Amino acid sequence: MSKFLSSRFSSLVPYTPGEQPRDMEYVKLNTNESPFPPSNKVIEAVNSEEVKKLNLYPDPTGIALISALAKTYNVGEENVFISNGSDDILNFSFMAFCDKDKGAFFPEISYGFYEVYAELYGVNYKKVPLKSDFSINPADYYNAGNTVVIANPNAPTGLALSLAEIEEILKANPNDVVIIDEAYVDFGAESCVPLTKKYNNLIVVMTYSKSRSLAGGRLGFAIASAELISDLNTIKYSTNPYNINRLTMAAGIASLEDDDYYKACNKNTAEVREYTKAEIEKLGFTSTNSKANFLFAKSNKVGGEQYYLALKSKGVLVRHFKNEKIKDYVRINIVTKEQIDILLAKTNEILN
Ligand SMILES: *Cc1c(COP(=O)(O)O)cnc(C)c1O
Repeated sequence: MSKFLSSRFSSLVPYTPGEQPRDMEYVKLNTNESPFPPSNKVIEAVNSEEVKKLNLYPDPTGIALISALAKTYNVGEENVFISNGSDDILNFSFMAFCDKDKGAFFPEISYGFYEVYAELYGVNYKKVPLKSDFSINPADYYNAGNTVVIANPNAPTGLALSLAEIEEILKANPNDVVIIDEAYVDFGAESCVPLTKKYNNLIVVMTYSKSRSLAGGRLGFAIASAELISDLNTIKYSTNPYNINRLTMAAGIASLEDDDYYKACNKNTAEVREYTKAEIEKLGFTSTNSKANFLFAKSNKVGGEQYYLALKSKGVLVRHFKNEKIKDYVRINIVTKEQIDILLAKTNEILN
């Protein structure tokens, strides 16, 4: 920390993204990216014609993309917000809906960024414990009196709440914003977008990074009541109005024209996930009933860190978290069956 950094941030611990080592080629199963390239329509849309326009600012309203998303999700244009990755939306949401009087509730084990944003803005927050099977108890969020943030499916457990359970949380917090982070919803959970028509306190946050093969494009979006979208725009226009660049905007629109391609990719991922679960359990692992593009698994023989390090030395990267409650586990990104077979073979070598 330099002497220049504001004392507001003296104890801030930033988020640590999954490692991207350059020392060798790894089978990368640690950042939950899609193994599939963007659709051909996206590749065609990000063309030299678009590059030639990079001297011009992108449309700050992003209306072409917003309109395409509104059609896809069957909501009004006033119900859609777009942003530079969904992290941006989460950031804006903590800025917009939390302060020293209004804190945040989120699961004790979840996406690490929630705590970082809460700390960044000096917000009081409560990390709500999970049940012993790592599931979320919806009742723990009733009458929260605080902004509620839940990843559904949750990360890194992969466990999902049902629509009915989320609706109970919404009903029990009519005066507070409930943010449902659906980064992984397309791999097998139920989206609560339809509930945005009924509950004006719900924000559904989604990303192109996982199920639309566009992590490098940085594109996220939110669906919510017009009032909440307007609040997010207040923050956006007070920080970075041009938060989506031209090439990403073009890619985002084109990808919606090729929904079938992504549906097929996501179906494949869900199938490979079930294959991986069955195979790794044969090797003595236990894993949660993940609805995401990753498995959360622990061996009955090797500890999480030991397994992670042994895999790394064999050229396979998975994600290990040091948190005491989940230290026996690793998170394994579901990719192609060929790459998963490498993981399984290396796991076999480690166990023997
Ligand atoms: C990956 C992820 C995000 C962030 O995605 P970006 O759109 O790439 O910023 C948000 N929430 C969860 C739970 C994630 O896993």
